[in-house]
Amino acid sequence: MRRRTFCKSTVAAAVAATLPGCGAEEQQVDVGSLISAISTDGAELSIESGAVSELAESLTGRLYLQSDEGYDTAKQVWNGMFEQKQPAMVVQCTSTDDVINAVNFARERDLLVSVKCGGHSLPGKSTSDGGIMIDLSQMHSVDVDTDALTLRADGGSLLGHIDGAASAHNMMTTTGIVSHTGAGGFTLGGGFGRTDRKMGLAIDNLLAATVVTANGDLVRASEDENADLFWGLRGGGGNFGIATEFVYRLHPFNPIVYGGTLIYRFDKDFLDFYAELHSTVSDEANIEPNFVPGEDGETVAMVEVVWCGDHAAGEKALAPMLAHPGLISGTLGPFPYHDIQTAVDGLLGHGKQYYLKSSFLNELTPEAIEVILEFAGRGTVGSWFQHLGGATSKVAASATAYSHRDAALNFGIMYFGEDPAQNDTKIAAVREYYKAMEPHMAGFYTNLNDDDEKKTWGNYGENYPRLVALKNKYDPENLFRLNANIKPG
Ligand SMILES: Cc1cc2nc3c(=O)[nH]c(=O)nc-3n(C[C@H](O)[C@H](O)[C@H](O)COP(=O)(O)OP(=O)(O)OC[C@H]3O[C@@H](n4cnc5c(N)ncnc54)[C@H](O)[C@@H]3O)c2cc1C
Repeated sequence: MRRRTFCKSTVAAAVAATLPGCGAEEQQVDVGSLISAISTDGAELSIESGAVSELAESLTGRLYLQSDEGYDTAKQVWNGMFEQKQPAMVVQCTSTDDVINAVNFARERDLLVSVKCGGHSLPGKSTSDGGIMIDLSQMHSVDVDTDALTLRADGGSLLGHIDGAASAHNMMTTTGIVSHTGAGGFTLGGGFGRTDRKMGLAIDNLLAATVVTANGDLVRASEDENADLFWGLRGGGGNFGIATEFVYRLHPFNPIVYGGTLIYRFDKDFLDFYAELHSTVSDEANIEPNFVPGEDGETVAMVEVVWCGDHAAGEKALAPMLAHPGLISGTLGPFPYHDIQTAVDGLLGHGKQYYLKSSFLNELTPEAIEVILEFAGRGTVGSWFQHLGGATSKVAASATAYSHRDAALNFGIMYFGEDPAQNDTKIAAVREYYKAMEPHMAGFYTNLNDDDEKKTWGNYGENYPRLVALKNKYDPENLFRLNANIKPG
């Protein structure tokens, strides 16, 4: 049997240590053996281990096969519902060349590709059974240019890396509400956060991205270079390639914001109050109610308030919230933005069972309020609003691939727990609640929903044909299909 030695994989580090030349990262494989995998359309494939060894040799990062020590850790994604998935291999990239080599390897063999940044895809799109996981999680360096007011982040960065680097200079760009979420999926889908009504979505602050396309080319996209691709990256998700770098606009920012958490009685009075408040309050304010069980098990409205402007102005603008008769507890005052950006990191930690459906509301109507009163009142699953509008609505729907510029709110219904035995019941409860809300909502955030192709078309509205044309240009064989997929035309 032919044998070949290669470096960088972890399978046989112990064996490698006995071989001259490659040190502890060298290993031996039987180049004649075959590795089972899955093609883009789900057919079974056999890949020569010699080809895998060549890929491993080409990397500055590491390649893990299923039998390798470290594989189980390397393949992990955030949602515990998908922890049983078994990619045929994980390529843990540490350089742009690694990404290019992995993409070329996959395309040449028609291998099913998943791309992992933070691994937070709710429907588990960053993993697969039998595919190649291209894992960017080790590529997370972030630099701030204080003169240009820009931040450059590697394509595998987490939102916490960006928040930390920006706030160290009293600056910020819009990131999301949990710091271990990946910047990759978050940004390419749109990117909502506590500052978006003031600063715009993440895509509205994106100045450039560097992308490895399906044919292995490295392409820069900005308003001045490959502007068509730049348009598609801002909302079109991972459909057009793998982003190895993002450049964001920074805004001067006081890392001490004004706000807090207020608990209200959950009733029609509160929902009517919020229906008025969310649409009239200044763009500095981000006000997000969560409908969750209170201390006595009865549903309450737990409202998170962040004012990212002058504190005295915030105190005045938000005074009606403290005067509302349904207020049970809580107060407003100055606090570090970092505290709120990491407050639910543990609650929404890795490995639990999660299921979520969400949709946009252009208006919180009396009919929608009726549904929330009925279903959130049951206390079976949690639901919440993400406050949009403000700067997120001041961009034309056709200016970026993300088109939901009229949305005033995003409404999410989520189950999370530790016990998989509860999944069926809780998923059914989320779906029932969502079905009742659906007539009062319009379109959905592709970063939070798993929906069928027809709905994905409708969801992009008039931007869809342009996205298909881009897909035809940058990924005609649909190599990048584990996402809210835009099929080539
Ligand atoms: C706990 C939690 C909190 C969240 N909070 C917010 C929030 O506040 N605001 C908000 O807008 N969204 C939020 N989301 C949704 C979030 O934006 C999506 O789940 C997003 O996909 C996460 O990105 P990721 O890189 O971690 O995902 P991954 O699972 O790593 O990737 C998901 C998909 O994104 C694509 N992708 C990822 N990285 C790249 C890249 N570098 N290049 C090309 N494609 C890539 C791939 O198609 C991949 O399948 C949250 C999700 C979770 C689980």
